[in-house]
Amino acid sequence: MLLNTVAEDPHAADGEAMKRLFEIEVQNIDECNECGSKSDPITATGNYHEVIVPSNEGGTSLKLGELLAASKKSTKQAVCKECSCDSLTTTMTFIKVPDNLVLRMNRINFDESTQRSSKAMTLVDLEPTSFSSGGAEYEFSAVVRHQGSSPRNGHYTIFRKQDDEWYHLNDDISSHVKCAMLLFKKIKA
Ligand SMILES: [Zn+2]
Repeated sequence: MLLNTVAEDPHAADGEAMKRLFEIEVQNIDECNECGSKSDPITATGNYHEVIVPSNEGGTSLKLGELLAASKKSTKQAVCKECSCDSLTTTMTFIKVPDNLVLRMNRINFDESTQRSSKAMTLVDLEPTSFSSGGAEYEFSAVVRHQGSSPRNGHYTIFRKQDDEWYHLNDDISSHVKCAMLLFKKIKA
C-alpha cells in the first residue's frame, strides 16, 4: 500500500518530497491535573500516527473519529514542577500533516499478570470516511487488514481505493473492518 503510494508519486526520489508524503509533525503539551499549569510545547515528527484500539469484547463497535480524538489525549504519572502532584494530561496537536495520513491501529493488549499479549478483536466503524485534521481534509483510501486472533501471526490483506473504485473489496469493509493500518489521502489542504 505504502510502496504503491510512493511509486505513483513523481517526486519519490526526493527526500523532502517523501516528508511531504508521510511526515506528521505534532506538538505535545503537558497539563497538570491538579493546578492546571502547562509545559512548554514539545514538537515531534513521525511517519504515522498510532491509534490504540481497546478491547471491547461483546460490546458495540467503536468509532474511528472517537478513537482518533482519544489518541491525542493521554494521562501519565510525572511530577508537576509547580505543585509536585504526579498526574499530567498530555494533549497532542497535529502541526503539519502529510499528503497521506497513516493511522497505525494498535490492537495489542499486554497482560502484566500472564506476561502475554492478545489481539483486541473490537470492531472499528470507519464511518464517516472523510474527516478534517490539522487544517486539511482527508478521505479514506486504503486499509491493511490483519486476519487472525493472535498478534504474533496471521495474514495481512489490503483494500485500496483508486479512481473511486475499491480493489479487493470484501463485504466486511463497507462498514466494519478489523484493521491494522489505515491510509487517508489529503483531498484539500
Ligand atoms: Zn501542578
